[in-house]
Amino acid sequence: MDSIKIDNDRLIKFRETFKGAVIGPSDSLYEQARRVWNHMIDRRPALIAQCSDTLDVVRAVKFAEENDLPVAVRGGGHNVAGYAVCDNGMVIDMSPMRDVTVDPESRSVRVGAGARWADVDQATQPYGLATPGGEVSETGIAGLTLGGGVGYLRRKHGLSCDNLLSVDMVTSDGLTITANENENADLFWAIRGGGGNFGVVTEFEYRLHPVGPEVMTLNTFYPIEAAEYVFSAWLKFTRSAPDEATTAFAIWQIPEDPDLPEALHGKPVCLFDGMYAGSPDTGEEIFRPLRELDGALLDLSGRVPYLEAQRAFDAFFPDGGLYYWKSLFMDTISGKANETIVAGAATRPNPAILVILRHLGGAISRTSSEATAFSNRQAEFMLSIDGGWTDPDESERNIAWIRQFWDTVRPFSNGGMYLNFPGFDNGNDVRWQTSHGPNYDRLASIKGKYDPYNRFRFNQNIKPVSI
Ligand SMILES: Cc1cc2nc3c(=O)[nH]c(=O)nc-3n(C[C@H](O)[C@H](O)[C@H](O)COP(=O)(O)OP(=O)(O)OC[C@H]3O[C@@H](n4cnc5c(N)ncnc54)[C@H](O)[C@@H]3O)c2cc1C
Repeated sequence: MDSIKIDNDRLIKFRETFKGAVIGPSDSLYEQARRVWNHMIDRRPALIAQCSDTLDVVRAVKFAEENDLPVAVRGGGHNVAGYAVCDNGMVIDMSPMRDVTVDPESRSVRVGAGARWADVDQATQPYGLATPGGEVSETGIAGLTLGGGVGYLRRKHGLSCDNLLSVDMVTSDGLTITANENENADLFWAIRGGGGNFGVVTEFEYRLHPVGPEVMTLNTFYPIEAAEYVFSAWLKFTRSAPDEATTAFAIWQIPEDPDLPEALHGKPVCLFDGMYAGSPDTGEEIFRPLRELDGALLDLSGRVPYLEAQRAFDAFFPDGGLYYWKSLFMDTISGKANETIVAGAATRPNPAILVILRHLGGAISRTSSEATAFSNRQAEFMLSIDGGWTDPDESERNIAWIRQFWDTVRPFSNGGMYLNFPGFDNGNDVRWQTSHGPNYDRLASIKGKYDPYNRFRFNQNIKPVSI
């Protein structure tokens, strides 16, 4: 691969004006700075600009434009497809911008675009407030929100993007703008589910809701042999679940965690995961039937601080592993789909591959599919196949299996994918088109307005249509 030549005088000038760190291939911090969470991704940018404020972002966008450098924007660096980093271009790295300012009176929070969900939860929980985030606290708020945001509060309070009040952004021509319902409303519509296509977000403002400090969680494990029956019981539960009850059914193995009984380590299981976003007493009653099916192996459900529940899965998705995740939206799940998923999941080449079905609906489905760019709101369920391993020799086999299993389940889906769990093959924008459905054309013309030369293309890329 030919490396891009950047004019040295311009680079010296840029380094002089830029407040944060500018890191190139010969700098000692380069190896660390170019790495993202998923170590399957091994890209070598020409320059990494770690921004300390909005002016730095403006300078970086302008420098990229003047030097015709493609740009990747990095929030938390957790995108599984590795969109936060590119070969031979510039990474605009937002990770130093992590300030969180809570306004408990208006129940809102302003968050720097480099923050992780842990930063937000830790700042808002002292006021008994939260906004819907992700289920792993180390994930970046930026990519997760721009792609939708499916977390434990989703059925009660909607997606992360549904709770956005406003964003501040830098556009592809280096202008700073605000987007909300009143200003640049087309852009505000597009960034709620359209990904990082439209510019660099420097700050997100979210609505907050009373949550916690204690919540009831659901984590009950059953033998894999009971999977079809346990899955059916869950499907029945979801038909009348209140919005406060957010649950998932999964097929996995008991991880080798010192806090879990050693005798069960590595045992293939099916399980329920969930949180009740309301009174823990009520949550305990609501979750009881799912905890009392015959033959539970382990029940870790209980009342915990919301902050703890938000961190409970962090250890199972460590930085630096090898990952490949793919997803499908499903409007309903039939008996035949249940059988196919259970039988297919049993053939996993590595039992650590997590097959998880999340219950959606609730507040997500009460917003219309045209109200924001995120269109898959009628889907009651989302399947995601989350592969994680450490031995590079396993990669080909595991990825091939995930793709083949995804193909097997696809006929039971509505054809849409969750764009934050997209696999790797990012050259195929037809998938984005299917996933955005009727919203795609509108997204393409808004892309044409705000990023006509597709400078921001390392994402769930929408080709700009000129208007
Ligand atoms: C362990 C783990 C757990 C997860 N759990 C959940 C979950 O519970 N719910 C869920 O919905 N998703 C979840 N995800 C998926 C997650 O939403 C995506 O991986 C998301 O991209 C992460 O955001 P990030 O900022 O860390 O990503 P990055 O890799 O930094 O960026 C991802 C994309 O967003 C763009 N982007 C980032 N920052 C900006 C910005 N400031 N302005 C414009 N564009 C920007 C980038 O250009 C890139 O295209 C999880 C992922 C992981 C790895």
